[in-house]
Amino acid sequence: MRIDVVSIFPEYFGPLEMSLLGKARGAGILDIRTHDLRHWTHDRHRTVDDTPYGGGAGMVMKPEPWGEALDELASDAPEHAPAAPVIIFPSPAGELFTQATARELAREPRLIFGCGRYEGIDERVFAHAATLGRVRLISLGDYVLNGGEVAVMAMIEAIGRLIPGVVGNPASLVEESHEDGLLEYPSYTKPASWRGREVPPILLSGNHAAIDAWRREQRVERTRERRPDLLAGDR
Ligand code: SAM
Repeated sequence: MRIDVVSIFPEYFGPLEMSLLGKARGAGILDIRTHDLRHWTHDRHRTVDDTPYGGGAGMVMKPEPWGEALDELASDAPEHAPAAPVIIFPSPAGELFTQATARELAREPRLIFGCGRYEGIDERVFAHAATLGRVRLISLGDYVLNGGEVAVMAMIEAIGRLIPGVVGNPASLVEESHEDGLLEYPSYTKPASWRGREVPPILLSGNHAAIDAWRREQRVERTRERRPDLLAGDR
């Protein structure tokens, strides 16, 4: 998969060199390229923002650098994607990012992320982007961040780990929270007794059918307690 990220702070994405995603990049499974939006400015101050029409607080990201950035990136490397790329703008006013979104996006060969800052990006950029690819505005949750970078980091990590070959043992992906609408069961490792706290005896029994049944029960119980909205199918 090829991922391009446009931001005024491309250095935010340094940690994507580390750990499993870093290894996947080294192995050629993931091709992540970060770009400085200011590369597509032409004035001395490399301006990317201006005051909002209609007045109001804050600044708005100018359409011109975004237009040039998206034109260039969307037409680059067609061998990665015969179909149009998915162009994602993180936004608190977007659809909610879930494990299902991550699964869907993990099947795409080509993603482009555009990180907003200030009060966001001039609205016309989204319409222009829709002529170049399939646009999605995606929110990490119902709160407001200073910029899209943290949201994009989270999305790339959630998407990247679902790409075959990124996580060593694919079975560990199947059992996780949110994969089938339930939270994961509690996990324990050695020692069996620690500071007077015991591992549930069933896990030491060697009876795999009983362990599976216990884990299933724990998943339902935990979900009911912490996230009843998932059981009610609200999401
Ligand atoms: N004025 C915008 C609004 O009220 O919808 C918020 C702008 S926010 C300060 C700046 C940028 O941070 C946004 O353009 C977006 O890229 C990013 N951002 C903020 N909260 C986010 C969230 N919950 N999910 C995804 N991106 C977010």
